[in-house]
Amino acid sequence: MRDVPEGFDSWTLVELLGAKRPAWHRHAVCRGRADVSFFVERGEPTAPAKAICKTCPVRIQCAVAGVNEADGVWGGTSARERRSSRPAA
Ligand code: SF4
Repeated sequence: MRDVPEGFDSWTLVELLGAKRPAWHRHAVCRGRADVSFFVERGEPTAPAKAICKTCPVRIQCAVAGVNEADGVWGGTSARERRSSRPAA
């Protein structure tokens, strides 16, 4: 698991880059969950993050927001799963 400061989640980086969290994120189950990484190193399991996503009421919104993200678990999908579901160029 990557070392991240307590309370740091995927949208913290987005905010640091000057964007705002979308309104739906206030309902995200992962908010403030620094105990589970949603940005794992290559080869590390994504199952703990995905288990949290299964209970999240904004899973669809998150999956749409992260569909082109190259890293991290978004809407219960890993980066590899998103890459493999894209049509071949
Ligand atoms: S679907 Fe998963 S990553 Fe997305 S907001 Fe919900 S808990 Fe967080």
